[in-house]
Amino acid sequence: MGGMTLLYTDPLFLRHETGPHPETAARLRSVTARLESAGLPAKCAPGGYAPLTEEDVLSLHSERQLRLVHQAAALGGGRLDPDTVVSPESYRVALAAAGACAAAVDAVVQGPERTALCLVRPPGHHATPDRSMGFCLFNNVALAARQARHAHGLDRLLIVDWDVHHGNGTQDIFYDDPGVMFYSIHRYGGGFYPGTGGADETGEGRATGFTLNVPLPYGIARTDYHTAFRWGLERAADRIRPELVLLSAGFDAHARDPIGSLGLEAEDFAELTRQVLDVARTHAGGRLVSCLEGGYNLEALAESVQAHLEELLVARP
Ligand SMILES: [Zn+2]
Repeated sequence: MGGMTLLYTDPLFLRHETGPHPETAARLRSVTARLESAGLPAKCAPGGYAPLTEEDVLSLHSERQLRLVHQAAALGGGRLDPDTVVSPESYRVALAAAGACAAAVDAVVQGPERTALCLVRPPGHHATPDRSMGFCLFNNVALAARQARHAHGLDRLLIVDWDVHHGNGTQDIFYDDPGVMFYSIHRYGGGFYPGTGGADETGEGRATGFTLNVPLPYGIARTDYHTAFRWGLERAADRIRPELVLLSAGFDAHARDPIGSLGLEAEDFAELTRQVLDVARTHAGGRLVSCLEGGYNLEALAESVQAHLEELLVARP
């Protein structure tokens, strides 16, 4: 038995204030209300965490980048680029969000719980080693992966990124690192953000083959999405045989998403979850840490997270 699913939430994550912006605190409020009304938090184990330290963040991000975020917050907020907002508490919230994802790794590696869902913001997967961008300040899932290696000595990790956008930041961080297989499936082409993630981006040096991108066109049929997802996931899992699976769980491929939309429905995220859990069971003793990324239609996001968590809750290694 794999224990319960750990759920990481904190009202602090609401205090990254973005104003009129798609990546708003209302997203988490909508998710939390929906999960509560479905009675799901009561079926989970509450996750405890400590924020990451500056030193932790500097293990993957540049000093200049950390200072930019810290100073923008200290000065009352501002924009790092046209998309990426910092509010007075954003620095503190970003350290907390990454801390929750790292703590989920600690807990899942040590057991008895094998699965965790981190309902954090700001999201992280666009944050590169040197740049906060695309609504993201620090790279939560990458910092969680680092925790798995440095605190627990794991040397074969799989990061699955099904957010509708390419996880360019995560890719950059691990591009020359054969200990982390990065698999991203995303909408691509026609100027869609961030523009990277072509199938020819496969890693470099001894890590060639440890980045796998599956770029998909707008308008793809749901069945074709699933076929492509399964193909990529199997390939990525066979390549790394992960000791732990991390998930950049964005829900902006949903049909009603105002930014992404690859035509998926909430039930599709249940199917994707089952497949990732299968990989975690086959290779990693069922160990899976899921970190919230995008998803911008408040109802569609909440329905999709519910479908995702319900699958995590039925999972048994
Ligand atoms: Zn996204």
